[in-house]
Amino acid sequence: MTVHHHPPDELLAMFAAGTVDLGQHIAVATHLVGCAKCRAVVREMEHVGGAMLAGLSPTAMSDGALEAMERRLDETSLTSIPERRRGQAFRDVPGLPDFLDSYPDSPWRWIAPKVHLRPIRLPEPSATRVFLLKSSPGTRMIEHTHTGFEMTCVLSGSFVLAGGHFGPGDFDFGDGSVDHDVRINSTEDCICLVAMQGDLKLNGMIGRLLQPLIRM
Ligand SMILES: [Zn+2]
Repeated sequence: MTVHHHPPDELLAMFAAGTVDLGQHIAVATHLVGCAKCRAVVREMEHVGGAMLAGLSPTAMSDGALEAMERRLDETSLTSIPERRRGQAFRDVPGLPDFLDSYPDSPWRWIAPKVHLRPIRLPEPSATRVFLLKSSPGTRMIEHTHTGFEMTCVLSGSFVLAGGHFGPGDFDFGDGSVDHDVRINSTEDCICLVAMQGDLKLNGMIGRLLQPLIRM
């Protein structure tokens, strides 16, 4: 698998620093499963971050700081990604991070002609929604804009976006300024993992008709 499109460095840095939410984490982790180059970048960033922490000169802790830190550690253990529990969820979808096995599975559901969606329900509240999107060959996704960002990881099949070809392993980061006009150009279904914040707004009359159907 040759990966041509990667997450922006800023996003990898946020992932390495642990400042992304769970939905964003899943999108970046999905890319890292198939991209040795970005795994190396993240490892390097984690190494640099650790070295910077190690180099900080010690300062006296304020009153209550230890208790506050212990409280945070407790909270972190409650909200951290669940350990792998030999689940079976999403096993039929290759290319996903192992930890998703233990998430509640859900069936594909029709959202538009030739397009099906399968939600990934997160075990904790997250501003970022995550779902799988399956499109049949030849599908032209309705032109749309979104108010927040959208991360797309290609798991199988391929699509063309703004003249660029996106195949398995590729990652697209779109923000509100982007008008996506996506065309599926593989002979098999194209399955993507999508992490999205904000609202999706479909353009044109057909888009307005379909808009109520794609609410999640
Ligand atoms: Zn990469």
